[in-house]
Amino acid sequence: MKDYLLALDQGTTSSRAILFTRGGAIAASAQIPFTQHYPKPGWVEHDPMELLTSQLRVAADCVEKSGLHPGDIAAVGLANQRETAVVWERATGKPVGNAIVWQCRRTADFCSQLQREGHTEAIRAKTGLVVDAYFSGTKYRWMLKNIPGVEEKARRGELLCGTVDSWLLWNLTGGKVHASDYSNCCRTMLFDIHKLQWDEDLCRLMEVPMDWLPRPVENSGPLGVIAQGVPYLDKLAGLPICGAAGDQQAALFGQGCFAPGQLKNTYGTGCFTLLNTGKAVESRNGLLTCVGWGLKGETTYVLEGSVFNAGSSIQWLRDELGIIQSAPEIDVLAESVPDNGGVYLVSAFTGLGAPHWDMYARGAILGLTRGTTKAHLCRATLEGIAYQTADLISAMEKDAGQKITGLRVDGGASVSDFMMQYQADLLGVPVERPEVVETTAWGAACLAGLGVGLWNSPEELLKDRKPGKLYLPETDRSREYAKWRKALDRAKQWEDA
Ligand code: ADP
Repeated sequence: MKDYLLALDQGTTSSRAILFTRGGAIAASAQIPFTQHYPKPGWVEHDPMELLTSQLRVAADCVEKSGLHPGDIAAVGLANQRETAVVWERATGKPVGNAIVWQCRRTADFCSQLQREGHTEAIRAKTGLVVDAYFSGTKYRWMLKNIPGVEEKARRGELLCGTVDSWLLWNLTGGKVHASDYSNCCRTMLFDIHKLQWDEDLCRLMEVPMDWLPRPVENSGPLGVIAQGVPYLDKLAGLPICGAAGDQQAALFGQGCFAPGQLKNTYGTGCFTLLNTGKAVESRNGLLTCVGWGLKGETTYVLEGSVFNAGSSIQWLRDELGIIQSAPEIDVLAESVPDNGGVYLVSAFTGLGAPHWDMYARGAILGLTRGTTKAHLCRATLEGIAYQTADLISAMEKDAGQKITGLRVDGGASVSDFMMQYQADLLGVPVERPEVVETTAWGAACLAGLGVGLWNSPEELLKDRKPGKLYLPETDRSREYAKWRKALDRAKQWEDA
């Protein structure tokens, strides 16, 4: 039976492959971490060949481990770290240099220049983004201007560029397909999210040659076929690639948030919250407007926001303060006290993101008394993550003009029962954590399954969806939430501008 789906999840620190059954169970998986390059402070690079090779190897390993015949696999779906930029030679497939990773700040000065020159509003109107070095456009420009020989090769039309989805797709198809899905295109600062096209003016402004760019495509449907001769994938040649999405949009899809008003939060090192808004909604609170996915001629838009430091504050308690030995211990300690003892922890280690946008804020612990214990600190840390998520969601509700009715969660820190319960209490809506938390890979698998016709519509897919663990609101937390806002104010504008 051709009803397995192979998801390739090319993340920021590792390449992973997961084979899913049609029902969403994991049949096999494989993972390989790859090297992070930090050539200068604030710079982050990956070797595109290492990204590719590790991804191909895990795909082969995963199928091998499962004992399945490649003929059992209906289609392949891709999920990827977003915004990371690659430029390569059309004829040889050789990258002109390392990939510039989303975290890399090397184009911050150029972004400030764009802001000074007054382009912020035009960029927001077309792309839904704030001007930031995070996005791919200025990274392509950097390669053009700074890598010897690139400008000449570009003039001769010898180069191609793309985000990681595009790089993988080009290589998997033996150089036949140079395309990028809408959810990745919209993170470049070059893409008009309303027209679903590259914008000529923005490409000129960022000096990115338009003939470098991949063809924008929907997230589901026949994207290409694994070619003969792709290293490690001899046995998989001929398999169709039928879905692709950037990791956060893939997770939203994997969580089954198909209807406007549905949202998910991923509690990882940071938090990523995405709200399905259906149509494009412009934010007045510094959130991003992005394409969620394009499916059968219809485009679904999202509002996106992030908390910079979430799970990282748990790591800080473990690694810098040493008050817990391992992450799971935080839950045990937090639950050992009846309340937070008046302690609030604002994890603004690197400033505050949406909706506060204060890069001069710094971390703070308020309300300490002689009776404060490490259990209170643990509890305040988990509560602090939940408060920041609630702040973000409240901004989304304002922008979307709509109240949320539930929150779906995933990510490493979402295993904390205490935090999930607290989140439900704060928001006053049910919080649901799915059984399989690999929502990113599952989302890519779902897009591929839809693209190959395993399901006919997202609604049909929902019929197979198993409910996860539910946390229902139990306790009114409005007093604590008011106090949180007071703590937040004390942490804001701490560093001198
Ligand atoms: P990322 O993809 O950003 O690397 P993950 O989704 O893997 O992040 O989540 C890692 C985060 O989850 C870490 O910051 C860690 O502190 C947190 N974490 C892991 N296990 C637990 C736990 N049992 N309770 C609370 N937090 C946890």
